[in-house]
Amino acid sequence: MKIPPFDATCQYQSIRSDIEKSICAVMAAGRYIMGPQVKEFEAQFAQYLGCPQVISCNSGTDALHLALKALRIGPGDEVITVPFTFIATTEAIGIVGATPVFVDVDLNTYNIDTSLIEAKITERTKAILPVHLYGRPCNMTAIMEIARKYNLKVIEDCAQATGATWAGKKVGTIGDVGCFSFFPTKNLGCFGDGGAIATSDPMIAERVEYLRRHGGKIKYQHEELGLNSRLDTVQATVLLVKLPYLDQWNEARAAIADYYISQLAKVKGVVLPKVEQEGTSVWNQFTIRVLDGQRNQVQKLLKEKGVETMVYYPIPLHLQQVHANLEYSLGSLPVSEQLSHEVLSLPMFPELTAPAQQTVTESVKQALANIYSSV
Ligand SMILES: *Cc1c(COP(=O)(O)O)cnc(C)c1O
Repeated sequence: MKIPPFDATCQYQSIRSDIEKSICAVMAAGRYIMGPQVKEFEAQFAQYLGCPQVISCNSGTDALHLALKALRIGPGDEVITVPFTFIATTEAIGIVGATPVFVDVDLNTYNIDTSLIEAKITERTKAILPVHLYGRPCNMTAIMEIARKYNLKVIEDCAQATGATWAGKKVGTIGDVGCFSFFPTKNLGCFGDGGAIATSDPMIAERVEYLRRHGGKIKYQHEELGLNSRLDTVQATVLLVKLPYLDQWNEARAAIADYYISQLAKVKGVVLPKVEQEGTSVWNQFTIRVLDGQRNQVQKLLKEKGVETMVYYPIPLHLQQVHANLEYSLGSLPVSEQLSHEVLSLPMFPELTAPAQQTVTESVKQALANIYSSV
């Protein structure tokens, strides 16, 4: 049995006729850009999140970019974020001309270590940009407390955490602005690129709304440089079909996570992700740590059994060539560096069958048993 880390096609098959009907309706109606489904999706997603306003855009990366632009963060400003994330997080900060300032992550949660934030705040700090990695919510209580104390904005990177909650609230609705991605591998994915921001601040909503369409409130009158970053009508209609299933898909992921935890709890050499107590993870990834430098060997042994795994992320952002100018070096953010050598994401998607889940856990047990019997 070959088990992929993610498979978008089985979700499509499960709702195929509704998807095809809705796409055909868009094609027949001809409103391919900013058709009525775009507003309709924004309204329904806002309701799902429990947030006054959602503005859609072309990707999660653009959502971050637009949020920063809307807050007028630019050259000379610093934005506190983590190095253990996807490049889009710091790419957006760099593109607006601001400087990412890295705070290390916590070994147990993989998310920003909130005890290290205050030491990094300077007169130039404008915002904190926490990332809810692998679907797990950050400690938003601590982050909001620091932000209030220093009068900083909070931009949540929710790309991997659509539907996750912290202290009873959906992530993306706690900070000033939440940024979402509908890339196909995310918990709510479309058939291409897509993204959105959520906010309860009318100023941010208004600015993002016109910045995403060339920076003009009135057609052919442009006040400032914007982007071409609209959500395609076809993608909006796909998301409208999928949104009602999101909670059940997230519950299916949580059940797989429970099974993995029950089966792998006693495996030597493996540290499992801790279940969040103050919120709920939506398990975009189920990411274990493999100790003693054996991660790559485990990945290889799993591949031989047909179990495909992923490493998110092999090089932390402070060691990426693109950020060489920031002058971090090996050892400056030790937890992120350690995790980049230890993390391994097991197959995780709602439609992963019970036999496939069993193959995954049996293969992990065997791989680790092989390793520790031969040393
Ligand atoms: C996917 C992702 C993004 C970017 O989303 P796109 O829609 O692919 O542009 C940003 N941040 C994180 C943490 C992501 O995982």
